Amino acid sequence: MYAERVLSGMRPSGRLHLGHHHGVLKNWVKLQEEFPCFFFVADWHALTTHYDSPEVIADNVWTMLVDWLAAGVDPAQATLFIQSRVPEHAELHLLLSMMTPLGWLERVPGWKEQQERGEGAELLTYGFLGYPLLQSADILIYRADKVPVGEDQVPHVEITRELARRFNHLYGREPGFEDKAREAVRKLGAKRARLYHDLRTRFQQDGDDEALEQAKALLDETQNLSLGDRERLYGYLEGGGKMILVEPEALLAPVSRMPGLDGQKMSKAYGNTINLREDADSVTRKVRTMQTDPARMRRTDPGEPERCPVWQLHMIYSNEDTLAWAQRGCRSASIGCLECKQPVLEAILEEQEGLHERAQPYLDDPGLVRSIVADGCERARKLAQETMRDVREAMGLDYG
Ligand code: SF4
Repeated sequence: MYAERVLSGMRPSGRLHLGHHHGVLKNWVKLQEEFPCFFFVADWHALTTHYDSPEVIADNVWTMLVDWLAAGVDPAQATLFIQSRVPEHAELHLLLSMMTPLGWLERVPGWKEQQERGEGAELLTYGFLGYPLLQSADILIYRADKVPVGEDQVPHVEITRELARRFNHLYGREPGFEDKAREAVRKLGAKRARLYHDLRTRFQQDGDDEALEQAKALLDETQNLSLGDRERLYGYLEGGGKMILVEPEALLAPVSRMPGLDGQKMSKAYGNTINLREDADSVTRKVRTMQTDPARMRRTDPGEPERCPVWQLHMIYSNEDTLAWAQRGCRSASIGCLECKQPVLEAILEEQEGLHERAQPYLDDPGLVRSIVADGCERARKLAQETMRDVREAMGLDYG
């Protein structure tokens, strides 16, 4: 009923590194070609963990946006905006909080682990508990049906689905809903109305999901329905009320485990990162001083790539021939570690060169980024306001 839409955000709580580039941004670049995408700077989310150091957020908002653009996120294809510039997110968060059982939030991984570990008391705040609810508001306010996430984030999408269902159930029941829905069915015309009834019965009586999909497709292709009737007919199909908020699907992002300089996952917490736009000298220094197979003490000792963090970077950056060369050379001690690191270093520097080049126009003229974001915020806000009009009306808050 609503257009396909992807929503994803990132917290501006530190500099982005190559793990973000390979793990998230490359996926965004692909998605923006397939769907209308909304990518946002989650500055309010960053405050849940950095409420006592907000300057970190201010420092990173614009740098992060330049990183996105450098990575190929294209403002002509995707809408880029800042969460706090669309205050409707906060309003929906507040309204959803009225109907969200506490237990739903307490069982979301994150809060639960924090409680069980009994540490990080500074994080046991109302904001941290409500974090998944704000995330849900971020998604629901755009009626986004696709949310790219890793496995660990699936429970957050699941709670969003439950909230949408609960909201539609509680507030989608306008007075006289059944009568209005039946009247809307008549507007489909005799043939389509009969088909709609058959499919609805097959779904409601036999749980036939295919019939449900066919009925939705039937509504999608029917031109002459008002938005209100369309919402009613969607809700009537599944036995609920009007569908005001859309249940999103998790779009499982391709697994990418970008190794850090020490072989663990690249992460700021491990201090093993290469930043997305790091200067060449620093990258060279970091790669040249990377740990290698600890058993390879001397140049003449054969090594084992499987024990070496450099090998993991080879697997990301090298082609088949280079991989075979490194493996053979390491195991036979016919190449030294610095020699082995060279193709990896060159590949990273080449990748970084592209990132620096694409970032340059935005660094030369920061007004460009400001205007991309201003446009994006305006577009996002328009959609958010449309949803909030329906939400307020459904909750009886449109006093006129
Ligand atoms: S030769 Fe390459 S793979 Fe082998 S230990 Fe040295 S850096 Fe690692």
